[in-house]
Amino acid sequence: MKRKIVILGSTGSIGKQTLDIIKSYPDEFDVIGLGGWENINLLKEQIIAFKPKISVVKNEHLANNLKKELNNFNKTKIYWGIDGLIKISTLEEVDMVVVAITGIASLVPTFEAIKHRKKIALASKEAMVVAGELLTREAKVQNTIILPIDSEHSAIFQCLKNEPKNNIEKIILTASGGPLYNLTTSALKDVSVEDALNHPNWKMGKKVTIDSATLMNKGLEVIEARWLFGIPTDKIEIVIHPQSYIHSMVQFIDGTILAQLSEHDMKIPIQFALFYPERANNNYTRLDFTRISQLTFKKPNFTKFSCIKLAYKALDINGTMPAVLNGANEIAVNAFLNKQINITDIPIIIQNIMKEHKAMPNPSINDILDADRWARQRALSLCENKK
Ligand code: MG
Repeated sequence: MKRKIVILGSTGSIGKQTLDIIKSYPDEFDVIGLGGWENINLLKEQIIAFKPKISVVKNEHLANNLKKELNNFNKTKIYWGIDGLIKISTLEEVDMVVVAITGIASLVPTFEAIKHRKKIALASKEAMVVAGELLTREAKVQNTIILPIDSEHSAIFQCLKNEPKNNIEKIILTASGGPLYNLTTSALKDVSVEDALNHPNWKMGKKVTIDSATLMNKGLEVIEARWLFGIPTDKIEIVIHPQSYIHSMVQFIDGTILAQLSEHDMKIPIQFALFYPERANNNYTRLDFTRISQLTFKKPNFTKFSCIKLAYKALDINGTMPAVLNGANEIAVNAFLNKQINITDIPIIIQNIMKEHKAMPNPSINDILDADRWARQRALSLCENKK
């Protein structure tokens, strides 16, 4: 039986790599739905290659354009908007939803997919950051599973396999440090968008690359790990590991540490999630220890990269605060990419907005979306004032 798959964010970095993997296993997967949003040229190619039942774009206008482009090539129906994403994520026949949309847009479709008992392969860490408690609780109720695609969390998931929770002493999240780690605080201020986008080890989307440069990415990953694995925050530690070959580790109560290593290739964690609980062979580059020769580690600098501190703080306060952290960060990162603010303004803006926010405990999805909207509006006006 072929696994029936929906991909939300099929034209993004993770989405494209997911389809590459699927293409090389033609007997294993059936693509039922593709959510492509704005890049309709690429989406058109994907529709022709994978013949999904339904595809989703951002709005009606793009849907009409895509229909014209396809010129009745096949029977793929074209829907639009978040409702369209929800529709394809909850189709009766679908087994797994790959969630690879940047930002909070992934939240509602992911929640609905879980409610419909779909397996989730989660690349969009933001959904877990803003609503991790809700999503993991619902997954338990529905007896379904959320499989991480984030490389660190895939590593932890693989190290944790079948271990009871009370055997875990701590999770060690590795961080490359990103492209700016060795700069002085004063040099950080003048970093250009191009420098910040120049990640030493990974080729990724723009948002996550900037988050890696500010180390907010690691902060968001702490929150993601907290909920994904049900591990209290004080048992999650960050270690800088510039070579990024160890994707993360788990230390157990007997002093044993398990680590997962591989080349820098997102296809490895994507493939792991797609085939779980099985493993499939591939011919991706193998790690050659004699070539890498050394693995080094150091303590993270929370003073220089205060985004990490803000993430721990948001997790500690919990409720709607992680949504505020995330929403403010998305707007601030965007403003930096548009050259409206300096990279060092990002944590300042987030911190100010977090100070203004009174977190609501045990929020619903709507409360989370409200907090997110509020944080974005505040961030927009703070970024505007910085110009
Ligand atoms: Mg990661």
